[in-house]
Amino acid sequence: MKNHREKPLILIIDDDAPIRQLLIEVLSDRYACCEAESAEQALAALARDNFDLVISDIRMGGMSGLELVPHVHSIAPDCVVLMISGQNNIETAIEAMRAGAFDFITKPIDIQLVEAAVRRAITHYTLLEDKRRHENHLEDLVQSRTAEIERLAHFDSLTDLPNRLLFADRLTQALKLPQRDNQKLGTLLLRLDRFKNINDTLGHTVGDRLLCDFAERIKGSISEESTLARFEGDEFALLIPNVKGSGNILNSLGRIRDLLNAPFILDEHKLYITFTAGISLSPTDGENAQELLKNAGVALNRALSRGGNNYQFYRADMNTHALARLTMEAELRRALEKGELALHYQPQVELSTQRIVGAEALARWQHPKLGLLPAAEFIPLAEDTGLITLLGEWAMREGCRQTACWQKAGADDLRIAINVAARQFQQKDFVEMVGDILAETSLAPSSLELEITETSIMQDPEHVITLLTQLKKLGVSIAIDDFGIGYSSLMYLKRFPIDRLKIDRMFVNDSTTDSDDAALVMTIITMAHNLHLNVMAEGVETEEQLKFLRLLKCDEGQGYFFAKAVPPEFFLATAREIGERQQEPQLISSLIEYEQRSLRGE
Ligand SMILES: [Mg+2]
Repeated sequence: MKNHREKPLILIIDDDAPIRQLLIEVLSDRYACCEAESAEQALAALARDNFDLVISDIRMGGMSGLELVPHVHSIAPDCVVLMISGQNNIETAIEAMRAGAFDFITKPIDIQLVEAAVRRAITHYTLLEDKRRHENHLEDLVQSRTAEIERLAHFDSLTDLPNRLLFADRLTQALKLPQRDNQKLGTLLLRLDRFKNINDTLGHTVGDRLLCDFAERIKGSISEESTLARFEGDEFALLIPNVKGSGNILNSLGRIRDLLNAPFILDEHKLYITFTAGISLSPTDGENAQELLKNAGVALNRALSRGGNNYQFYRADMNTHALARLTMEAELRRALEKGELALHYQPQVELSTQRIVGAEALARWQHPKLGLLPAAEFIPLAEDTGLITLLGEWAMREGCRQTACWQKAGADDLRIAINVAARQFQQKDFVEMVGDILAETSLAPSSLELEITETSIMQDPEHVITLLTQLKKLGVSIAIDDFGIGYSSLMYLKRFPIDRLKIDRMFVNDSTTDSDDAALVMTIITMAHNLHLNVMAEGVETEEQLKFLRLLKCDEGQGYFFAKAVPPEFFLATAREIGERQQEPQLISSLIEYEQRSLRGE
């Protein structure tokens, strides 16, 4: 395309110098004119400059004007050609037009005719140029759109990183290259921890910006041969070539972790991000891209099941475990429907009076092949798969129903403690469900206590505060389970509307042998009392522990020293057994009475 010039550029070719001079005089006011005395000279000028118009004599020594026209157009396709003919006859005109000329003028030169012909020719040139511009624009447009579509097929539109397709392609290409000195290729899948919470609480705009900032930070830290890709949501993939061993991978992970030490600042939010990684190495963990990605995924799931913020290398036995898990999941679904699940109850004792004040309901699975499974064997699976929602609701209904029965028999004060998983707090109608179950089973809200762990509170504190406040309004009490092993502090918990802390068994177990644990138990109890919280010790197993806890004015206790969790039909007998060791057996006597009555079939 021609550069923008002030005046159109005309090349005048004639072997007759006076004619050239005449034309230049006539045209040079409006046009920039160059001259050539032969077709050969003209070609040299055409190669140098972009002319709008060529005015050429037909008959010249050497190459004729008619022969010149195709050469002009091959050099400058849009250049317009006017012929000057010595003979005023129609044949010459037709010949010139056929050769590709736009128009012709005749000798002797008529100034006005020349000016008019040149004006028309220049207008024609402008039109040609416009047309060309549009054509080029259209072509550019098609090219850029094609490039965009191509890009969308291989790149993530949010972060501009390669997508899964391109990553798999690069991995495939990398696998074809011979690896030096037994070096390996590392395929890493990375997930941001708690990203869903960020999206849910701060919105997708903040979430998307976080993903972009994360991508940007990591991209800057990886080597040129590595590829960082975004698959979907908060899942990223990293291809690291020339890996000598797992140490190389751990160094890379360490560098990423270091990069995340500084918070991400998004508007007024300061976000600290951690991530979880699953790693597969070629050739041991797979021969092709598909296998390596699949196995990195299996490893990632394993790391995620441990709560995130860690990494896992793939191991061949993981697929077997994954398979066993799948079978187990299907079986657990069926168990819920077939009533293979049951609640066992562990007594909770008031330490000062030794009265039984409550029972913690603990789920058990009567597995057709594996026998009776404790909660620890299937609750984590239920939490991972979301079955915990169904299971939790069932446990709450069953526990409340059973407790209402015992209360009707005279154990008015008996409180039932039901464990609530973090995931259940995400149920939209959780508070409503609790209210419905209480109404349905005719249990007073004050007889129900929900046990939640620190970890589940800390996953989304603001949301949990709202829920707990609603539950408190309902009249239900709240206990923090396994206190001490999470990362919350008592001062932080002050913000939560809770009634009781249950000190984790780990501290209670060693409290009489380990002075650090003893100090910790003492501190927890003192601080909890200052915050007007009731304290229960979990895992009380010996008389020394009981004496120690009493000394510290610990309010309540639960553990093997009193009783293990027992099926409902044995709860009364167990209570009686404890009752024999009790000073104030009022509650127990009423339970015994109930048991005797039910034995008599009343
Ligand atoms: Mg518990």
